[in-house]
Amino acid sequence: MTTRRHFLISAAGAALTAGTGSVMAAAGKPAENITWDRTTDVLIFGAGQAGLCAAISARENKAEVLVCEKAAFCGGHTAMSGSGYYIGGTEIQKKAGIEDSIEINWKDSVDRGVKAHRFIKRDTRVVRRVYNEGIDGMHWLEKYGVRFMPNPVQGIGNRKRVHYVAPGYKKGSPVLIDTLAKQAQKMGAVIEMQTQLTGLITATGEPTLGVRVVGAQVKDAGGRILNIRARRGVILATGGFANSPELVKRFHPYLAGTPSLGSRLNTGDGIVAALSLGANMIVETNGFGMNMLFVGTHKGQSMGLPMTEAPLIVVDKKGLRFEDESKGYLAACHKMTEKGIKLADWVFDSKTYEAFKDGCLKPMFTTEVVNKYDSIEALAKGEKIDAAQLKATIEKYNADVAKGRDSVLGRKALLAAIDKPPFYAFECGPRIYTSYSGIEINAEGQVMDTRARPVPGLYAAGDVTGHLAYQCNLGGGGISGISMATVYGRITGANAAREKPV
Ligand SMILES: Cc1cc2nc3c(=O)[nH]c(=O)nc-3n(C[C@H](O)[C@H](O)[C@H](O)COP(=O)(O)OP(=O)(O)OC[C@H]3O[C@@H](n4cnc5c(N)ncnc54)[C@H](O)[C@@H]3O)c2cc1C
Repeated sequence: MTTRRHFLISAAGAALTAGTGSVMAAAGKPAENITWDRTTDVLIFGAGQAGLCAAISARENKAEVLVCEKAAFCGGHTAMSGSGYYIGGTEIQKKAGIEDSIEINWKDSVDRGVKAHRFIKRDTRVVRRVYNEGIDGMHWLEKYGVRFMPNPVQGIGNRKRVHYVAPGYKKGSPVLIDTLAKQAQKMGAVIEMQTQLTGLITATGEPTLGVRVVGAQVKDAGGRILNIRARRGVILATGGFANSPELVKRFHPYLAGTPSLGSRLNTGDGIVAALSLGANMIVETNGFGMNMLFVGTHKGQSMGLPMTEAPLIVVDKKGLRFEDESKGYLAACHKMTEKGIKLADWVFDSKTYEAFKDGCLKPMFTTEVVNKYDSIEALAKGEKIDAAQLKATIEKYNADVAKGRDSVLGRKALLAAIDKPPFYAFECGPRIYTSYSGIEINAEGQVMDTRARPVPGLYAAGDVTGHLAYQCNLGGGGISGISMATVYGRITGANAAREKPV
């Protein structure tokens, strides 16, 4: 079926298999005596947000499209996500009375990056395209049947910018994927399930760097190894590496051993394949390394946003606060990992409950278990927290709130006393879920090599490229995984489709 000796394969997760044959194809031309099992114009790996957007975009540009998905279903992390599309300056915000714009959003992200000592001068053109084209990306999704909720909610950032896909938090994500997968197929894209990228194929006889990618090797549902030729380009949309303990340890050693959530199949295959061809990896060392969320101990549901919207405190089982809660779930989860704290409780009172029960706290009460207590003593007992310390922590916190200054952790935002029963506790632990590190792309979505030149014929979009906002050392939160995957899925699909066929 395949003449493996006659071309160069950069194997995903395996050592390079260098061709020893005598095929000397011209740069950019596929080696003539490779046995191709299948041919398409644009070959896409991964049927999550980035891959499906790339497929639709490539079909809009009239290219033949084949999407190969490792799982038995589409969706990856996108289908498990909250479905919150972060962007600033939308019509939906305007209608909801939220004053925002692309520039306000951009400045907010840069300011937070500077404040967190994260902002170093890098080429920001790549990430800037997401801010500039994110609203258009939403309209593009709407054109294909995706609907957004009318009231954006607060995430990380100075405005309510999280636009959940209808019918709302988490429930919108399978709808999003289903809509896009059906649309891509309706437009003529072929999606092969349980077909995984195992290596990229380049023209033979050329040095690795600078050689055009002309196809890929896959393992199909029946375990067969096939060579697929891509006349116009290959797009990597295989997601991140949160579920590869090896890559987590390799790039972010301090997180090694931390449990992860999300798809087991997001093991960084596209990253390894691209690195094998000399692609450049941007490792996020300046900030948080990888994205983390809290997961409830009762039902395993991920939770994060209420921390930046509702007044609450987070304590460990000793009854101590450990991070300024208003910095959000990411900072709190990283602090827990750093300090080796396995479990925490979010604690709030009835004032917070009443004010936010129909807003940001609703998902927590509908998808997880939140325990209610008449007193702090009862809460401490029920949640197995050191009662004397918890009482002291809350008394100190309440006294600080009265003075308007958190003397323990320097918190400035969302300060409110915890004093009105009943009291509520949500027990949770930290999980890693998205990698911020990933392969470098340019503003056209082309994979960049270590010499800062595009790898011909190779594109990447979504989490495989890491979190562009953090890679550019912005404060994050102005845009998000789904908005990035949409914008760059769209860009890469169009650009690959317009490549001259080889
Ligand atoms: C619990 C959770 C909540 C989140 N909430 C939000 C949110 O509210 N808002 C937001 O913006 N972001 C959120 N995110 C992040 C967001 O989901 C991702 O950033 C985004 O979905 C990435 O899309 P993607 O297409 O790059 O990757 P994915 O959606 O993960 O798709 C990658 C696909 O590639 C496939 N694949 C992997 N390896 C191979 C291979 N070798 N060959 C072929 N296919 C392969 C996978 O099976 C998967 O289907 C959340 C993530 C999680 C886990």
